[in-house]
Amino acid sequence: MSLISRRNMLLTGAAGGLLATSMKPEAIAAETYPAKALSMPGPTSPEEAAINPMDWQNLPTDHGNLGTLRHSFSMVHNRHTDAGWAREVTVRNFPISKQMAGVNMRLPAGAVRELHWHVPSEWAYVTYGKGRITGIDAEGRKHISDVKEGDLWLFPGGVPHSVQGLEPDGCEFVLVFNDGNFSEDSTFGITDYMAHTPKDVLAKNFGVPASTFDKLGKGDLWIFNAPLPGSLADDLAQSKQPNVPNPYAFALLDQPPVFKSAGGSVRIADVNNFKVTNMAAALVEIEPGGMRELHWHPNSDEWQYYISGTARMGVFKGEGKNNTVIFHPSDVGYIPQSIAHYVENIGKDTLRFLEVFATPEYSDVSLQSWAANVPHELLAAHLNIDIETAKKLASPQTKTPIRPL
Ligand code: MN
Ligand code: MN
Repeated sequence: MSLISRRNMLLTGAAGGLLATSMKPEAIAAETYPAKALSMPGPTSPEEAAINPMDWQNLPTDHGNLGTLRHSFSMVHNRHTDAGWAREVTVRNFPISKQMAGVNMRLPAGAVRELHWHVPSEWAYVTYGKGRITGIDAEGRKHISDVKEGDLWLFPGGVPHSVQGLEPDGCEFVLVFNDGNFSEDSTFGITDYMAHTPKDVLAKNFGVPASTFDKLGKGDLWIFNAPLPGSLADDLAQSKQPNVPNPYAFALLDQPPVFKSAGGSVRIADVNNFKVTNMAAALVEIEPGGMRELHWHPNSDEWQYYISGTARMGVFKGEGKNNTVIFHPSDVGYIPQSIAHYVENIGKDTLRFLEVFATPEYSDVSLQSWAANVPHELLAAHLNIDIETAKKLASPQTKTPIRPL
């Protein structure tokens, strides 16, 4: 028996075998290479290496180097104020992340992310607690609403907005911007703008005395402490302008899944159910042993955020190139447009992660659906199988985002 086939036996056994081998790459390595070739006498950090063991030894089917497909908010610089914090994963520290950038922000009760705007659109998912968001559109119509864990929002590029943590413990959220070069440190803040505009111009602009702005300060409050807001009804009543016709917030977790199987479920928020959005997203839940099927996205890169559980993702890029990566909570994954991948729950707990896209409409192409809907003879000729076996691969012919069914 060759080394390769011995290893394949290890890898293609029961789900337990998959777990054992994927979590113990040194066992795979020992089957593949002589001990001398695996020796590593120089300095090493076992703790660091254990976070992504696939870096040291990939699966036997892996080949080539697709670059860094994983980053983590837990590994990046954090910007703190006396009110809250934010940290970011952008193209600067995660080179593959060209089409989208991510930010993780914490606002305890009362803390405000200053009134601001920016060039790219901002998609957000609340991972903890409660907050109040405000925004206005180009017609001066308002949006004010309270968001909770499982809700998302989308502020189109240029739309000014704010976020404030509510009682009892504020909120935490992830933001995704449809530009990998975005930085949370270079947004356009109301205090920065006004502090760098002559007071007489401000006075003329607002029709008030220039002395109104004497206590403005130097600007860039960014994240600061403010009194807790009153009721939502009171806040809404202060503006007589109408609400925006399509709200900027959406209760994703409150929606029924668009797909549910024994393996897990998928919820989708895109322009079809969340009118204002120009960024599509899916919230995927996978039970232990379950798998987000082999697929790719024809219209956008995919930005991933891992909320809970342990995942293994395999990414295929043609020319025999395939890399495998392990993900933990607070990790970010990234897959370029039309590059194929699967995501498998290799842990003991439910795996939850977000897929975010820089296009308004969600779209994926499924390997199984493809195989199921070409002539059986054609598929059989490719895979060197008989027609009856090809028919088994062709069932069901509808799409099945999560296995097992
Ligand atoms: Mn923003
Ligand atoms: Mn995907």
